[in-house]
Amino acid sequence: METKIVISKLHKFNKRWKRKKAHRAVALMNRVINSNEFREAVKAFDFTDRRYQKDPKGPIEEIMDNLKIYEILKQGNEQYGNREDDYKWTLHLKLGKFLRQVGRREKELIITQNWFMRRSTDIELAAHWFHEYSHIFGFRHDYEETEERPNSIPYGLGTIVKDVYKKLNG
Ligand SMILES: [Zn+2]
Repeated sequence: METKIVISKLHKFNKRWKRKKAHRAVALMNRVINSNEFREAVKAFDFTDRRYQKDPKGPIEEIMDNLKIYEILKQGNEQYGNREDDYKWTLHLKLGKFLRQVGRREKELIITQNWFMRRSTDIELAAHWFHEYSHIFGFRHDYEETEERPNSIPYGLGTIVKDVYKKLNG
């Protein structure tokens, strides 16, 4: 079954090019998630931090089976909002100014810094939203820049998205 990634809200995307870029990035996200290459890359990735919190108030577990990670992503079972396996991601996106990082998320809202919106390529933006949305499913990583962080599920997915895109474009 195909997963459908859609934009439900664009806050402060005050220029036409920003809205167009957002839609292009989401088109890339759809292409990547529904490819066999993505499935294979998630299966093969050596995640060293596998923390997952199914419910925002529930316990943190570790997912040892990469296929399970893939299935959560494909099925679209978010912590907030629509919790069903609806094979749908609904992106609430906002641009912000005063963030130290590239972006962050607040519950189901993803905030991206304006400078990153300007400087990123479409696939970098797609990878960033993929990372942030993975938090909405309950995947976690160290807050500090640790050695493990690049191989956490959210950071790993960002890497995977860029790699898969390269493969798809041969
Ligand atoms: Zn993160």
